[in-house]
Amino acid sequence: MITTTYTCDRCGASQITDTQLWAVGVVVVSWGFAPSSHGGRPTALWCRKCVDELQLLGRSKPETVITIAPLDVTLEDKLREVIRVIVAEETRT
Ligand SMILES: [Zn+2]
Repeated sequence: MITTTYTCDRCGASQITDTQLWAVGVVVVSWGFAPSSHGGRPTALWCRKCVDELQLLGRSKPETVITIAPLDVTLEDKLREVIRVIVAEETRT
């Protein structure tokens, strides 16, 4: 039997399904050109908890949130954290 485990690149949490995981990255696209697929772009795999902590999907519904960040996360905070994780992954290999 082969078992696949998905691990969050930010916090290291692991799970056996790919649900509630997001490929997170920063993409810059020239105006007028449609973005292509994610192939080759540096992305990290983040779990729901990490995505919610940085409010990457906006504010979560209160009934689905266990802990809510006390302050709003700025766009700069989001970009810095995404880039920090991607750079850490890229320099580890
Ligand atoms: Zn995580």
